[in-house]
Amino acid sequence: MNYADIKTIDIQDGTGIRVSIYVSGCHFHCKGCHNQEAWDFNYGKKFDDSTIDYIIDLMNHDYIAGLSILGGEPLENINQQGLLPLVKRVKEIYPDKTIWCYTGYDFEKDIFGKMYKEFNYTREFLKNIDIIVDGQFIEEKKMVDLKFRGSINQKKIDIQSTLKTGSVVQLKFGDEERYQSAKEDDNNKIVLFKEYKIKENKGLEFEENNVVPNVVNDDNVISIKPAYEIKKVEEIIAAKGINDENDNNL
Ligand code: SF4
Repeated sequence: MNYADIKTIDIQDGTGIRVSIYVSGCHFHCKGCHNQEAWDFNYGKKFDDSTIDYIIDLMNHDYIAGLSILGGEPLENINQQGLLPLVKRVKEIYPDKTIWCYTGYDFEKDIFGKMYKEFNYTREFLKNIDIIVDGQFIEEKKMVDLKFRGSINQKKIDIQSTLKTGSVVQLKFGDEERYQSAKEDDNNKIVLFKEYKIKENKGLEFEENNVVPNVVNDDNVISIKPAYEIKKVEEIIAAKGINDENDNNL
């Protein structure tokens, strides 16, 4: 297995401040994918024991809330098997930190309904995962303020609760309700997307008022605003969007 990149600080792909790994190889080829170079399974560097050691070391800080695994496609067979020693070791050493995994597969149909039944390595892999964000990125369903996902079709699934109860348990972070009126027909999708372009500009104005999270990275000494402040800023930006009088139909 190869990987395309490791981010030492990531505040987008899961809760809190995280370390992220982008694995190589994805057969989905979604329109608008931001990581197209990682579609090639041979792209990037070889993933081996020294990569695991490096990630374990990066996570050895109180401010690191967990590991996020993205791609490429982490749930491709070869990648699941390659990642298994990593997720096991992270959970052994940091049982209180979370592991998020982003996949283009549909959790209910492809992962829980098929891989989980067929492959021992999928069962082992899921035992160590806290949250899966599932589903392909669909450009027409993209919204700029979604929490921890790119398009409204994607779901955030609590894996341990799902395994315990046997039925899919979704997690909500406040953005789901905003789009519950989005209908599954083409006209509504287009209208919502255009309105969001306007909202995106307001978000940028807001950032220029110096209220965005401030990350300083100085020779591995990192000073960052506490996670609750980041959350508050996200909530203020979201509230600003919701309360706008032009957004009555959202
Ligand atoms: S599943 Fe993810 S990595 Fe693969 S093409 Fe779609 S957006 Fe890109």
